[in-house]
Amino acid sequence: MTAKIAILPGDGIGPEIVAEAVKVIDCLRGEFGLDCELEQAPVGGAGYEAAGEPLPADTLALAGSADAILLGAVGGPRWDSLDRPLRPERGLLALRSELNLFGNLRPAILYPQLAEASALRQEVVAGLDIMIVRELTGGIYFGEPRGVRTNSAGEREGFNTLIYNEGEIERIGRLAFDIAAKREGRLCSVDKANVLEVSELWREVMEALARDYPDVELSHMYVDNAAMQLVRAPKQFDVVVTGNMFGDILSDCAAMLTGSIGMLPSASLDADSKGMYEPVHGSAPDIAGQDLANPLATILSVAMMLRYSLGQGELADRIQRAVGSVLDDGLRTADIHTHGAERVGTRAMGDAVVNALRAGA
Ligand code: NAD
Repeated sequence: MTAKIAILPGDGIGPEIVAEAVKVIDCLRGEFGLDCELEQAPVGGAGYEAAGEPLPADTLALAGSADAILLGAVGGPRWDSLDRPLRPERGLLALRSELNLFGNLRPAILYPQLAEASALRQEVVAGLDIMIVRELTGGIYFGEPRGVRTNSAGEREGFNTLIYNEGEIERIGRLAFDIAAKREGRLCSVDKANVLEVSELWREVMEALARDYPDVELSHMYVDNAAMQLVRAPKQFDVVVTGNMFGDILSDCAAMLTGSIGMLPSASLDADSKGMYEPVHGSAPDIAGQDLANPLATILSVAMMLRYSLGQGELADRIQRAVGSVLDDGLRTADIHTHGAERVGTRAMGDAVVNALRAGA
């Protein structure tokens, strides 16, 4: 069946990096039998310019009907002074919640060719391959009640609610166990069960799920220790599963182990493996329109899309090998450039990946 992919380039470098990812998809369609159709729509600042809102109704309808969504990035100074509901980032948040994309997958992979870009010693990070699975639509970022009020002493106080029900924990847990079962079979659940009741329940549900996955080894770690271990000995982790706020912080920490934000893809999945795929970085207005952006995070997001939403793991492997091959050839965009390597622009990097795919890298 023909898969439908919604292409949402967004703002800043978004259109440039998405154009390179589309070249890769077109190559897979033309030469490797990928059966898909693409349809493009505006989101973020581009949505505001086109239809007066960051998530136009037509864009939401397209995203809702697609099997997968490829997003560039949203935002830029031009829209920073708009009222909050009209700001580009609202378009992204609305997409995630409208489509119920509760499972955020953030791999932290360090290509050995880029080991010197990391702030950590090479032997600590070389060959790093962690998958952080973060719950994305619940927890303290969405819990009610929330607000700022005046207490009985006449002092203002801010409050939020950290709440997870069993169903929410179970569905993110299952997603993480399924992923761990396809990798090295080790899942570390991160919580704060020594202090928080919600984490006690989280642990209980994870333990119960573990019985359904005899081939996955489940461990638990407190979030403060997890932050420390990620920097001390990150290669001990295979898959990490955690709630929204802990995952927000730990996934950025893990991302930075790899040195460059321009290399990192991500996925947000619903219960039927429909997903939105996007680079971790933003719209980089400082380099937009200059052929400077690294398109590899977006191209690697296409690989994740093929693996998790379109059931094409073999094509995903091909993309990853092609990216490895262009790095082997010494090609680098400015953000990952080191002495002695060949510096290339956005378009040349995209072309090089397509050529490596064709060459069967
Ligand atoms: P950013 O990720 O856009 O940029 C941070 C730094 O990294 C910049 O110096 C940028 O040039 C560089 N960079 C980012 N992506 C790169 C790439 N592919 N290749 C080379 N260099 C790259 O973060 P920011 O500057 O804090 O935010 C800029 C805008 O992006 C803001 O409007 C922000 O709200 C938005 N934003 C959007 C998303 C998203 O769409 N998911 C995420 C974060 C920030």
